[in-house]
Amino acid sequence: MKIKSIESFILSDTLKKSFYFSQWEYSERRICIVKITTVSGHVGWGEGYGPADVIKSGIELMSSYLINENPLQIETLWNIMYRRTLDFARRGVLVSAMSAIDVALWDLKGKILNLPVHVLLGGKKRDFIEAYATGMYFTNSEKLSDVLPKEAKRYCEMGFTAMKMKVGLGIQEDIENIKMVREAIGPKVNLMIDANHAYNLREAIQLAKKAEPYNIYWFEEPISPEYYDQYSELRTKTSIPIAAGECEYLRFGFHKLLDSKSVDIIQPDICGTGGLTEAKRIAVLSSVYGIEVIPHTWGTGIAISAATHFISNLDDVPGRLKPPCCYIELDQTENALRDELTISDIEVKNGKIKVSDKPGLGFEINEQALKKYRLK
Ligand code: MG
Repeated sequence: MKIKSIESFILSDTLKKSFYFSQWEYSERRICIVKITTVSGHVGWGEGYGPADVIKSGIELMSSYLINENPLQIETLWNIMYRRTLDFARRGVLVSAMSAIDVALWDLKGKILNLPVHVLLGGKKRDFIEAYATGMYFTNSEKLSDVLPKEAKRYCEMGFTAMKMKVGLGIQEDIENIKMVREAIGPKVNLMIDANHAYNLREAIQLAKKAEPYNIYWFEEPISPEYYDQYSELRTKTSIPIAAGECEYLRFGFHKLLDSKSVDIIQPDICGTGGLTEAKRIAVLSSVYGIEVIPHTWGTGIAISAATHFISNLDDVPGRLKPPCCYIELDQTENALRDELTISDIEVKNGKIKVSDKPGLGFEINEQALKKYRLK
């Protein structure tokens, strides 16, 4: 069993309606995906989280180390990629390139062995995963007071019992938006807020205090990911759980986040933090600290499928007869790549996703969509 080829593709779609968050505006979806083919004709697909063009270069670099290697020895290949890039890229997009290849190797292994990835990871611990809707970004084309409550209600009608909205426009405006959304969805729906590190510690404390009466399920990335001490101080000043980790890489990054007592929930992105191989290690590490793992998920059906298999394998922290929710993040913003690239049995029913038992990550690539959105 040998790897014959590793091809990467950049897909792009211009949005009909741009949207923004606390850092910048999105007018395009652009993603790098990877296809690994064996001499025997088996195929696996992966995806990288981050700047697609740089990830493509990273995949091309790493391909040269992996051709003719045995794709079933995923950890061995992971270690080759890691050692060859460690001196230059201990964090960042080269790790995303590794992640894309790693996810493709897991899909490939499942396809070769005719087993779902959750079995390869050690077994399925839940058949259904609660999904939360990510949306409620900002727009200049309409008044937020017109769109946010409507959007929140739409997620409720779709069956979601949890949703995440953006903050980071300034404390006063954020609180007005949170109030509107909470009033629209009622008291029972779990509501998370995400600042994408827009605030300093003083502001984050102020916002958290003012948001507490609206029963916030977690406050995500309140502060820049560089300031671990400020995160741990914020945790002592608010009753809202603090979540972060989408900008963190490898188990070493998460060790720092966990050891500094910065967060209540860690959010590794499987397609950015080192793939399923490293995400599994990160989950083991977090269990040592007794901290929940709720992955950050963004991108196409490849990333969503990888997250589904990973989450289905997570241990309950803590274990009990009626365990806490193991959420999967489902981005609801406009994304034709997410909607069209993969064909799978993933569907949200009553706010839950059923875990696929099909081989590999459980999807097929829609070759027409690949052709339609392919840039290079
Ligand atoms: Mg986030």
